[in-house]
Amino acid sequence: MTKMGAKLDREQKIANALLKQKLRYAKMLTKRQARHTKDKKGVKVRQRLIPLKKLKIMADQALSLWVRKRDGFRCVTPDLKCKGCMQGSHLIKKGRTRIRWEETNVHCQCAHHNYNHDQGFRPSPEILTNYVINKYGVGEYNRLCALSKEEVTSLWIRNKATEVIEKYK
Ligand SMILES: [Zn+2]
Repeated sequence: MTKMGAKLDREQKIANALLKQKLRYAKMLTKRQARHTKDKKGVKVRQRLIPLKKLKIMADQALSLWVRKRDGFRCVTPDLKCKGCMQGSHLIKKGRTRIRWEETNVHCQCAHHNYNHDQGFRPSPEILTNYVINKYGVGEYNRLCALSKEEVTSLWIRNKATEVIEKYK
């Protein structure tokens, strides 16, 4: 390759790189524009979704308060050990998102009984389990157990949490 040829080749490479950069920039712009929508007056409004974590907490709080009202702010499994404030206690852990906001899975319990349900020195999950079976029947308990095994998508969580907040607010 001659000196001249090498120079042209280098120039071509630079031109190609610039073109690539330009295209990339054009793509970035469209990406950025996609994040913006305009309102009626044509003013740019940035659409932001509530983070999923926050949405879940909001739904938890709404249902928890509703449940405590339903149960009359009294521990549903009262005994001499009752202690602490009233809380929305889950029969099946709320980590199983499918049954996190089922009315029959959440009950008003004192802090002691909520903690002792599955934690502490001697966890006693049978106390709340017996209460649910006595009140709603074995059928409902089995339905909750079966439901709890289902996996959910983040879209499902978003829709369900929004529904729960609307329903129990
Ligand atoms: Zn209690």
